Amino acid sequence: MLPAKFDEDFFESIKGFLPLGEANALYEAALSIGRLGPLLEIGAYCGRSAYPLGYAAKLTDSFLFSLDHHRGSEENQPGWPDHDMQLWDDKLEKFDSLPDFRQTIETAGLTDHVATLVGHSQKIAPFWQSPLALIFIDGGHSADQALQDYRLWTRHLISGGILAIHDVYLRACEGGLAPKLIRDYALASGLFTPIGQHGSLALLRRF
Ligand code: MG
Repeated sequence: MLPAKFDEDFFESIKGFLPLGEANALYEAALSIGRLGPLLEIGAYCGRSAYPLGYAAKLTDSFLFSLDHHRGSEENQPGWPDHDMQLWDDKLEKFDSLPDFRQTIETAGLTDHVATLVGHSQKIAPFWQSPLALIFIDGGHSADQALQDYRLWTRHLISGGILAIHDVYLRACEGGLAPKLIRDYALASGLFTPIGQHGSLALLRRF
């Protein structure tokens, strides 16, 4: 029988930028809605959010689509503070978080509940058709990328579904304002109501 909660020690061993408290909130949200449909995350990196989301998918007989081009965002590139030399593909001379991501999902025993979509969010979205129970937006943090992710994907969120947005900060100096922009945009649309804020993780429910 599967333990009722994901393994916090394993979680902490996964590279990434999601604090445990926020992972717990994301996990609980996914657990509450997983039976109503599949989950989607935009921005996967090494699987630090895919692990709790995929674990919730497994417990609820749901499924997680984890989307990322795995080439890293701007701040992951050489010369930037978040660059990790261990995630560098010497042959292609490109950043590559996919091997680490796959290792996370395999080690966690989640291959039957997580599909890895390797590509650009805005290229894949026009071909998407499945309704989604939860969308976690943690992809490109430019205003344009964040807004496009919001516009292209939230149309697939079911009524009662959960929109989770990471890195929602009130001040630009804390980490950029694009995630807050789409949180505010979602609330102003009248389609969403806030249901929680845990650190920089904003949770909204679609009416
Ligand atoms: Mg993030």
